Amino acid sequence: MNFLEERIVKDGIVKEGNILKVDSFLNHQMDVTLFQQMGEEFKRRFADKEINKILTIEASGIGIACIVASCFHVPVVFAKKSKSVNIDGAVYVAEVESFTHKCKNQVIVSKKFLHPEDKVLIIDDFLANGCALQGLISIVAQAGATVEGIGIAVEKGFQQGGRIIRNLGYPLESLAIVDSMDASTGTIVFREQN
Ligand code: 5GP
Repeated sequence: MNFLEERIVKDGIVKEGNILKVDSFLNHQMDVTLFQQMGEEFKRRFADKEINKILTIEASGIGIACIVASCFHVPVVFAKKSKSVNIDGAVYVAEVESFTHKCKNQVIVSKKFLHPEDKVLIIDDFLANGCALQGLISIVAQAGATVEGIGIAVEKGFQQGGRIIRNLGYPLESLAIVDSMDASTGTIVFREQN
């Protein structure tokens, strides 16, 4: 088991409805020493890529993305959830369905912060059905920029997102891939990765 898998086993809680709660260290209280280790691991896994911008989505991706951005020495941009419509065309927009909150949100990124020459590493805390990632990929495409890679903390491998994104050809690295989990016993099984 790697450092993140060990932490998930120690402090993660498996909930009914295929939810893994990691709010004591990842997305409510945040262990930034762990985030630093995650940032260094993403830097190692994407060492061959020329990345000049990190992109994530509000809210729980922001903490991790900031530390990753510090490891890559590049700025981080987050897609904002927005209720207002795009009147003046100054933003890129995507529709994202929230897995945890079961609602649809428009997310926006200002055109000021994403350009055709940008080489983007997308970072998020979880990958479930892949809606959040598809929204971020769409925003990068609208900007004419390039997705150089996608880094996820926890992928739920029993949901479809990872397969969809890999089939689209994106270099996707998840630090922990949960292949199965059981709320009644609390058991979590991780996918073997090299
Ligand atoms: P997707 O768009 O891939 O279906 O879901 C990704 C988003 O849903 C993530 O940004 C994350 O905030 C949230 N999410 C999905 N599954 C879980 C989960 O099991 N636990 C937690 N804490 N968040 C999740």
